[in-house]
Amino acid sequence: MADVQQTTVGNGEGGDPLSLSALQHYLYCPRQCALIHVERLWVENQFTAEGRLLHARTDLGGEEARQGLRIARAVPIRSWRLGVVGVADVIELRGGEPVPVEYKRGRPKAHRADEVQLCAQAFCLEEMFGTTVAEGFLFYGSIRRRRAVALDAELRTLTTSTAADARRLMMEGRTPLPVYEAHKCEACSLKAECHPERLTKRVSIGRWLAARIDE
Ligand code: SF4
Repeated sequence: MADVQQTTVGNGEGGDPLSLSALQHYLYCPRQCALIHVERLWVENQFTAEGRLLHARTDLGGEEARQGLRIARAVPIRSWRLGVVGVADVIELRGGEPVPVEYKRGRPKAHRADEVQLCAQAFCLEEMFGTTVAEGFLFYGSIRRRRAVALDAELRTLTTSTAADARRLMMEGRTPLPVYEAHKCEACSLKAECHPERLTKRVSIGRWLAARIDE
């Protein structure tokens, strides 16, 4: 999913629209979301580079028809209701109905950040085409396979609340303190700038005072 940076689309709660990727970043780590979308910080690492390479084809855009399927790549989408804009990697037209396909490096994950990003795309397509999108797909580069995702009520509720939480963070313009979680932070390209281990350490006031008195 490529981002669209723009300010002309509004949303029901006011303010600029969120990039669709902000939802994924927020669910992964609110601090990561703020560093990228508030502080405009971006650092490439092995994982982001792999993701960029995986998107090389979809980012070219264009359409094709294959086995009775129409496929469109790099499709600009937006939802006024959710207040998000972005570019969908791939939209497949199945029997005239749009089905989003999101490309991800790596493999299926324990958290739901990828599913939320896909579901937000479905919200966009439903609003743009006046239809219902019941299912989408996540294609994972490491296993070279796609996984069907049911866009059910639970995922829709999570997507809506994530968009509201991410928007609140943007409007407040604040960057939360880090919470070090090895499985997330060690894969995060912003780790060197974030200092999660150092900033997560809590120093007791008593110990801090004792150290100052010793000095
Ligand atoms: S290093 Fe960890 S706490 Fe910091 S932004 Fe990345 S995931 Fe969040």
